[in-house]
Amino acid sequence: MRIGIVGAGILGLAVARQMARAGAEVTVLEKEPRIAAHQTGHNSGVVHAGIYYQPGSLKATLCREGAAMLREYCAEHSLPYDEVGKLVVASTRAELPGLRRIAERARENGVPGIAELDAIGLREVEPHAVGVAAVHSPHTAITDFSAVARRLAADVAEAGGSVRLSRPVRAIRQTTDGVAVAAGPERLSFDRLISCAGLGTDHVADLARAGGDVRIVPFRGEYYRLAGWARDLVRGLIYPVPDPRYPFLGVHLTRRIDGEVLVGPNAVPALALEGYSWRRASARDLRGILSWPGTRRMAAEHWHTGLREVYGSLAKHAFVSAARRYVPALVPADLVRTGGGVRAQAVARDGRLVDDFVIDVRGRIVLVRNAPSPAATSSLAIARHIALTVPLTN
Ligand SMILES: Cc1cc2nc3c(=O)[nH]c(=O)nc-3n(C[C@H](O)[C@H](O)[C@H](O)COP(=O)(O)OP(=O)(O)OC[C@H]3O[C@@H](n4cnc5c(N)ncnc54)[C@H](O)[C@@H]3O)c2cc1C
Repeated sequence: MRIGIVGAGILGLAVARQMARAGAEVTVLEKEPRIAAHQTGHNSGVVHAGIYYQPGSLKATLCREGAAMLREYCAEHSLPYDEVGKLVVASTRAELPGLRRIAERARENGVPGIAELDAIGLREVEPHAVGVAAVHSPHTAITDFSAVARRLAADVAEAGGSVRLSRPVRAIRQTTDGVAVAAGPERLSFDRLISCAGLGTDHVADLARAGGDVRIVPFRGEYYRLAGWARDLVRGLIYPVPDPRYPFLGVHLTRRIDGEVLVGPNAVPALALEGYSWRRASARDLRGILSWPGTRRMAAEHWHTGLREVYGSLAKHAFVSAARRYVPALVPADLVRTGGGVRAQAVARDGRLVDDFVIDVRGRIVLVRNAPSPAATSSLAIARHIALTVPLTN
């Protein structure tokens, strides 16, 4: 069985490893000259414990399984993994019902060690945080997803597979007995093709003539980092009670594995699929994004939140006050602008932001159509799930 995989992010590489270890001949095709160039290399680095997700959804199941698998994988390969723990903090009494729902959902999802804390209890976990109550998840962890991706690529090579860089997939033709692919200068044929193309998902789907009911809309997540001693004000992860209307978790404080503390990410509409800043705009991408009926319906319903997020992106003080709500000792000089990432978030035709992972099987082609957070956490479990979906026989 020859399997082609589009994308050398953490997902494509996890799938490649799974398939190569099952005996398939695996080729990963990546358009960039390095692996983990997009979402995998531009995220918060949090190994989510599975608190928020709709019980029974793929996100709920695969996040929990994936976090456990990742913990073991990191231990086995001496990769960084630190259970710094996470607080979800209600900063007003009005947020208490939402916080209670989070605690109930976390328990329903079988997240271990969940505790409900009062204002004093939360300060024992995070001495500089304030709030009226919090939910504590002690096993939420941090890692370096780029390092994990590099190790997965090494596993693929060790199992006889190959990861080919600078190979943009530019044509796909499915026949009764295979899939022909043009990638950079190469022409290849496979028995199965699996697309894990992140922001490039729709382009790959279009090449495969696999229209669908969801399209990727890019949402940039921007960060500040804490400078100097301000880093000591945060031990682990401090999150707000999320707005249940959105799949984004709200601006939070995140200790990273390298000791930096990030503030963010927000969620602003990007002006290109790989729109890492306001300056990076693409007329072609925008035409594709805006011609999707779901984008217009989403904009009509959520323009108010969108404007608030854009304002927060342009005005530092909005970011500072979001952070000070949880850690009031912070002052504007403590926050320094740093990079960001672009989320590949699927939006349905009716304007709904698709919450769950979406995996679409079209004959010999498997398309991962929605794999936003916590897909990095869940990558090993998603790979196992896909391997069960794709029989390794012709
Ligand atoms: C700001 C931000 C914060 C996040 N925080 C977290 C977090 O804390 N925890 C967590 O679990 N998840 C988090 N996520 C989500 C997580 O990063 C993604 O879900 C995950 O990285 C998806 O992996 P992927 O391999 O599908 O995508 P990617 O890493 O984007 O990889 C897709 C690859 O496909 C390649 N590609 C695209 N088109 C083609 C083509 N035509 N030919 C060849 N190659 C192609 C791209 O170059 C890219 O390398 C975050 C995401 C963002 C943006």
